[in-house]
Amino acid sequence: MHAPDVRTGLGLVAAGTQDELWRPVQSRGRTMEGIDPEVPPSSPGCADCTSADPPGWWFHLRRCGQCGHVGCCDSSPSQHASAHHAATGHRFVRSFEPGEEWFWDYDEQVLYDQGPELVAPVSRPPEQGAPAPADRVPADWKRHLRR
Ligand SMILES: [Zn+2]
Ligand SMILES: [Zn+2]
Repeated sequence: MHAPDVRTGLGLVAAGTQDELWRPVQSRGRTMEGIDPEVPPSSPGCADCTSADPPGWWFHLRRCGQCGHVGCCDSSPSQHASAHHAATGHRFVRSFEPGEEWFWDYDEQVLYDQGPELVAPVSRPPEQGAPAPADRVPADWKRHLRR
């Protein structure tokens, strides 16, 4: 199962579980539970789409909780956030979309409506938009989204 591509975590959250997430991170330091709050995001857009040849485009963005890698969501053509998890085992991603603060736990397949406060910036630049980047998004981009 891939991470849900949701605008908010409402209705999908395992109630109370964020306490289990918070406690070890706060009390036992930066490496616990696969989240390092001090690591800044790698880039304003998907790091892998940007470095690809030819470069790609993405729909929504996810930030790795452990190393800060910014990758594209599972609706995006290349699904780089999930690929990053598969390649590294890094467990959590946080939404990198403005106004969203949910985390997804790949190992437990659990969505948290919030989690540890990560170092800024906590989202992509709003003016960047979605999908992005504008000069690489095809006119029929909706047909290219994954399900
Ligand atoms: Zn990507
Ligand atoms: Zn990572």
